[in-house]
Amino acid sequence: EPSGATTAVTGSSSAALPPGVVLGKDGKPCRTCSSGSAFKAFAKSSLKPSNNNTTTTTKAATAGAAVAATGAAATLTIPRDCPPDVEQLGRSTWTLLHSIAATYPTTPSAREQADLQTFMSTFSRLYPCWVCADDFQGYMAREKMPVGSRDAFGQWLCEAHNAVNVKLGKQTFDCSKWQERWRTGWKD
Ligand code: FAD
Repeated sequence: EPSGATTAVTGSSSAALPPGVVLGKDGKPCRTCSSGSAFKAFAKSSLKPSNNNTTTTTKAATAGAAVAATGAAATLTIPRDCPPDVEQLGRSTWTLLHSIAATYPTTPSAREQADLQTFMSTFSRLYPCWVCADDFQGYMAREKMPVGSRDAFGQWLCEAHNAVNVKLGKQTFDCSKWQERWRTGWKD
């Protein structure tokens, strides 16, 4: 469940939602802001024949839940090529961001530094999990992002990722090893 979910879950249908389902700013369940299991629980509950919340059912379909109903008993299948949940999206995004750090020049040109600055500030506004994006923008406002070298940016990014790890109750990563993880491979 994304941090900030409690405050994010607002709107008329929130009372009917399972814990961990985060609404988007449009008031519909936001798949890229919710964990897969929470979203699945939501989609299942919205399929129950006794559930007369037709608005919520419509919202589930709109939000991209992959559902298959057989008679009165509804079954739910989420294919591999379904839209990502908050975790899949996060893993893929960290892979992209750390890989950008890994291939960023050791001595970037002024143009490359400006590009990185523009990319990261645009990224922080467009990230598809809006509660994550809000927090990340806050982090960027507090912790000035260095763009003067690969190592400076890579370290900053590692610490930014650790801040999310802490928020989610995960172990932190040893940032002295970020290049082994994302650029050179592990030392034997
Ligand atoms: P991930 O955290 O995705 O990490 C992938 C891999 O990166 C790990 O397996 C590890 O090898 C390596 N790694 C871990 N930590 C570091 C580090 N500090 N530096 C370098 N490498 C590292 N989810 C939420 O629920 N709430 C949020 O508010 C939220 N905010 C996010 C903000 C951003 C900008 C991004 C990109 C993602 C956010 N996520 C958020 C998603 C979350 O960070 C995870 O990606 C998701 O929970 C899946 O976690 P994971 O355990 O698979 O590994």
